[in-house]
Amino acid sequence: MSDAANAGGAGALDDAGVPGWWRALGLPGLIDIHVHFMPAPVLDAVWRYFDDAERHYGTAWPVHYRTPEPERVATLRALGVRAFPSLLYPHKPGMAESLNAWASDFAARTPGCVPTGTFFAEPSAARYVREALDGGARVFKVHVQVGDFDPRADELDAVWGMLAEAAVPVVVHCGSGPLPGRHTGPGPFGDVLAAHPRLTAVIAHCGAPEYREHLDLVRRYPNVHLDTTMIGTAFMNALAPVPSDVVAAYGDLGDRVVLGSDFPNIPYAYAEQLAALEGFGLGADWLRAVCWDNGARLLGVATA
Ligand SMILES: [Zn+2]
Repeated sequence: MSDAANAGGAGALDDAGVPGWWRALGLPGLIDIHVHFMPAPVLDAVWRYFDDAERHYGTAWPVHYRTPEPERVATLRALGVRAFPSLLYPHKPGMAESLNAWASDFAARTPGCVPTGTFFAEPSAARYVREALDGGARVFKVHVQVGDFDPRADELDAVWGMLAEAAVPVVVHCGSGPLPGRHTGPGPFGDVLAAHPRLTAVIAHCGAPEYREHLDLVRRYPNVHLDTTMIGTAFMNALAPVPSDVVAAYGDLGDRVVLGSDFPNIPYAYAEQLAALEGFGLGADWLRAVCWDNGARLLGVATA
């Protein structure tokens, strides 16, 4: 049993207990690579979509942290999340650049927030990604299903090349869950990695539901990581549980798995994600790497 489990037991963990949980692991807090903040109209649209989740996904999805922006920032601070991005993603052309401008401004006015960028498959992508990198963006996000573009598109080749060269991580939602898209699954993004094998990629949701295939990408490419977003929670286990041999493999790849939560758009309390990770039974060293060290390395957070 880990120190953290002694602190109260995974099943008993609630948000108020989260600081005690990471303290019991000897951590200075948490680093979460999969957090969303968005301009209000965009986030409202996302929340309306979740209101209709029964129709879209076949299951209800009550957003747990549907609160005003300052309250969401305060919630992260109370949980002890020391560094996080404001992951954004466009669903149409001509939108990414303004999202990047918003993200830059949000990071500048929000302690702990890392400047974030995104892009769409469009001719201007190479220009505005270059500008975002030069402007200090330290993590990018691509959502293959929502964007509905092929990540192998010619106009993105230079973009992947720039990100690989800069060693700036890109969180890629390429798994076919909760909904498959025309370009989701390990195939299209696997081709991107074949062309850019040094890319620092973070596959969101461990690539759910194609856990095995995305694990293969981690084994094949040295800078590919997996984020834990929703993985192992009761909600996710009802849709796509991680096979036990895959969980065991995550234990051997402790430097390539990184905490992600999908805050605030999750249908349960934040503590459930941590309890789920602890429930994998991979030990305190693994939890420390996942919940702090790997995120610190990827987001360039100085650790004293
Ligand atoms: Zn997300």
